[in-house]
Amino acid sequence: MGKSSKDKRDAYYRLAKEQGWRARSAFKLLQLDEEFDLFANVTRVVDLCAAPGSWSQVLSRVLIKGEKFGRTAWEDREAKFRQQMLGVFGSTQPPFVSSASEIKSEADKLRPRENVKIVAVDLQPISPLPGIITLRADITHPATVPLLLKALDPNYDEKTKSQQAAHPVDLVISDGAPDVTGLHDLDIYVQSQLLFAALNLALCVLKPGGKFVAKIFRGKNVDVLYAQLKIFFEQVHVAKPRSSRASSVEAFIVCLNFQPPKGFSPSLEKPLGVGFRLNKMTEQNTRSLPITAPMVMQNQATGTWESITHFVQVTDECGITKVEPEDHRQHAEIDIRWIAPFIACGDLSAFDSDASYRLPPDHVPLDPVQPPTAPPYKRALELRRAHGGAYGKTSPKV
Ligand code: SAM
Repeated sequence: MGKSSKDKRDAYYRLAKEQGWRARSAFKLLQLDEEFDLFANVTRVVDLCAAPGSWSQVLSRVLIKGEKFGRTAWEDREAKFRQQMLGVFGSTQPPFVSSASEIKSEADKLRPRENVKIVAVDLQPISPLPGIITLRADITHPATVPLLLKALDPNYDEKTKSQQAAHPVDLVISDGAPDVTGLHDLDIYVQSQLLFAALNLALCVLKPGGKFVAKIFRGKNVDVLYAQLKIFFEQVHVAKPRSSRASSVEAFIVCLNFQPPKGFSPSLEKPLGVGFRLNKMTEQNTRSLPITAPMVMQNQATGTWESITHFVQVTDECGITKVEPEDHRQHAEIDIRWIAPFIACGDLSAFDSDASYRLPPDHVPLDPVQPPTAPPYKRALELRRAHGGAYGKTSPKV
């Protein structure tokens, strides 16, 4: 398959190269922002599973350079246009539109934000990006939190944990994905572990009111995840950007207005995890957590929906910590169910990621903006090359 045929089959792949993004994922974040205004009032961001770095590029261009994309850019232009019409003609109705380009150039002026801090984390090295602090670390490892806090604030003292509360983060984003095996259930399981790792990190660094966005694979236990998230965030949505293929189980959870339950203490030593059911619980390590986020669960015995107001932080016999409704003690057979609203986002006029588009006759296929620095398949490629390529005489010992 040549570069041209991939350009034809994947409009976002082609566009990413044309617009200088390191990966087509950049469009997913831009389309999520278009729908949820993710970058509003945001200056401190953690980008988890960030390599090769297209989401960090978006952050850098929006927060550090002050560029605007999508709807925000157009709204800005329109507001400016209306303001000018009012000033000049006393009416917002444009008598002519010839000044639009003038207004556009005014609105396009860059407005960088102050005190921006962006930390990007990945197992793989990330090639440098302007204004981004990059960390090579495993998001599932407890040692990553102090690393992250130190990167966010060099005065952070791990021993006293003195700066932890003082410099919280506005937005945590995670595009984490394991190397897909093709075994559907296994892929979904590994993905959910990454997602919980991202959530646990987010709980450690987010400030109240903060936002959390993460990639999910929609599997059969996804309702349990939504129910857990709804305990911490006022709003939980599931979104599918137009640049994410409809044929893929991928979607993004967008959690807004972080409201940690009173008394909840995040910890990567005792992280929240996902079990098959939430109603296995021991009485050890339980603590009452009054909570304001409304949530309902169905009593399987009666079929009725009951609202929950109190939760407990529980570590089960497998060492998995969860937040559960306190009432579980009375209703052992209750299952939690809360269905998050599903939103398809991205302008309808945007490219369809499942469609092939005809390329112009003068189309020149471009090279990727940033080839992977140390991909997991690098050694296999080196060995294959050393043995004369795919059709070499000797087979490589990988
Ligand atoms: N958002 C990125 C971008 O826009 O360029 C693309 C992310 S890519 C789809 C998924 C990334 O997850 C990979 O770079 C992989 O190394 C990373 N990853 C997987 N497991 C991880 C872990 N345990 N800790 C840190 N990163 C991890």
